[in-house]
Amino acid sequence: MSALSLSGRELAAAVRTETAARAAELTAAGVVPKLAVVVATADESSAWYVRSIAKAAEKAAIVCEVVDLGAGATADAVRAALTRLSADDTVHGIILQTPLPAGAALEDLAGAIAFEKDVDGANPLSLGRLAAGLPAFAPATAEAVVDLLEHHGVKTAGRHVAVVGRSTVVGKPVAHLLLDRDATVTVCHSRTSDLAAVTSAADILVVAVGRAGLITAEHVGSGAVVVDVGTNPTEDGGLTGDVDAVSVAGRAGALTPVPGGVGPVTTALLLRHTVRAAERR
Ligand code: NAP
Repeated sequence: MSALSLSGRELAAAVRTETAARAAELTAAGVVPKLAVVVATADESSAWYVRSIAKAAEKAAIVCEVVDLGAGATADAVRAALTRLSADDTVHGIILQTPLPAGAALEDLAGAIAFEKDVDGANPLSLGRLAAGLPAFAPATAEAVVDLLEHHGVKTAGRHVAVVGRSTVVGKPVAHLLLDRDATVTVCHSRTSDLAAVTSAADILVVAVGRAGLITAEHVGSGAVVVDVGTNPTEDGGLTGDVDAVSVAGRAGALTPVPGGVGPVTTALLLRHTVRAAERR
């Protein structure tokens, strides 16, 4: 048996096409959608991600302003940039890239992103509203996981989903989104005892840890659907997920590839959120 590959490229292309059409309508009406990306790191995988956002934005006729404060920036400088962009009427969406400088916490700084411009759901207000079932932008990666499952016809209602990772960027919001879709959700983390026993009992496994090859066949139930959110740089300049695809392919029913799974959908959703934020103004 070899697992079905759940590509994100087709869904991402559809979202980008729809977003570009809406961006063109807005521009014709005199509002040019603009996304600001605040960077305070020299991290190479972050730089790769920012380049891919900027490229996708350009194709969709969305202006992307990268505010690079440098790896030595202070938390105060990051907060000041977010506050300035929040007050700038020409900016509709704001993303704060991680990693952040030492001593700066995302949950703390992201509170400076205006709620209505928080297109990556980083402001704690957005996560709180999401948890309460109220309208807010969800973190794009968490939404990408759910949209990708839906796109491939994977039902979540009544099914047991194990999420590995409990970050505010992926694990927690994805758990809330899946609960809202009537899944039974178990959230695992570094202190979970006997991870394989928990994850192998799930119908659907979502992995967002950041450790290449953490998930092997023993962690996966026979025929389960596996969503690999992890993006770990490889020595040859590529990317690999948290799932050991070779070992898991023989056991899972379906598996998202890395690259080409959750990643492209995430980028497309950030642009969709930016256009939505611009439309609301
Ligand atoms: P993070 O903030 O570092 O969180 C990692 C989570 O994994 C934590 O909850 C941690 O548990 C848990 N963990 C660590 N070791 C574990 C283990 N041995 N067993 C079980 N759980 C373990 O990371 P993140 O920001 O959520 O990102 C996770 C991955 O997703 C990274 O590879 C990142 O690059 C990728 N990512 C991809 C996209 C995309 O668009 N594709 C977007 C965002 C992130 P504790 O809470 O107990 O420490």
